[in-house]
Amino acid sequence: MTRGRLAPTPTGYLHVGHARTFALAAARASAGTLLYRTEDLDAGRCRPEFADAAIEDLRWLGLQWTEGPDVGGPHAPYVQSQRLPWFRDVWSQLQATGAIYPCDKSRKDVERSLTAPHAEDDAEPIFPPALRAPIGAGREAREPGPTNWRFRVPDGETIAFVDALQGPQAFVAGRDFGDFLVWRKDGFPAYELAVVADDHAMGVTEVVRGSDLLLSTARQLLLYQALGWAAPTWAHAPLIVDAEGKRLAKRTAGLSIRELRQKGKTPEEVLTAPLDQLLD
Ligand code: GLU
Repeated sequence: MTRGRLAPTPTGYLHVGHARTFALAAARASAGTLLYRTEDLDAGRCRPEFADAAIEDLRWLGLQWTEGPDVGGPHAPYVQSQRLPWFRDVWSQLQATGAIYPCDKSRKDVERSLTAPHAEDDAEPIFPPALRAPIGAGREAREPGPTNWRFRVPDGETIAFVDALQGPQAFVAGRDFGDFLVWRKDGFPAYELAVVADDHAMGVTEVVRGSDLLLSTARQLLLYQALGWAAPTWAHAPLIVDAEGKRLAKRTAGLSIRELRQKGKTPEEVLTAPLDQLLD
């Protein structure tokens, strides 16, 4: 039985892209269970009113989940900011395997030692191997402390998986992505650790999300391996584009679920109408 999830980050109002990806997640889990998790670890950007609005907007669309902040369930709490002890526990498990190391390099350090300018504007720079801590660094740590921690990726290894919607995928560690953050010096887990820890703890069997996170899946697979956990399957939904092929993420003005609702659009239109029609 599929156990799916909706995992919004409450940094703003959800838009039509979220609506469609989440509706797909709900449809694919319709014969099983769907849970709802609020990913609010970025305290500087997340707001409780956006978390409440997300639930209200998705309910208005007709999505139904049976476990989440607004309903009970065996895996509560479903709010990541209430789950720090669990994330600490997962940090300890990773630290015990030697898969992660403390990293005091700043963004400036990283920029300075990048040899080539990165290809795409929005591509994240690969963490330079020259800045890695030596093997064994951090082995004596009992807590993360006020420092970043990174996962040491196996350079040159191909991380492959079959996506239920996008087909076979392959990324090369050290070339497509480098040592990634698992813990932040502000005391919170980084996204990659938190999402793997919670999908595992909550028994998620299929992750449906936007294809902007395809590369993250390779990182997350490495975490599943290091932790000795079975990975879920993935279905990355294509990103919504307008008539000119422009990605929605670049032009969300007027396309939040709430604005569309206020304009009198129906849930059906929000979920299926061409973008340009929604902007009328
Ligand atoms: N919370 C993440 C976001 O809203 C999605 C995480 C995921 O689906 O893995 O971008």
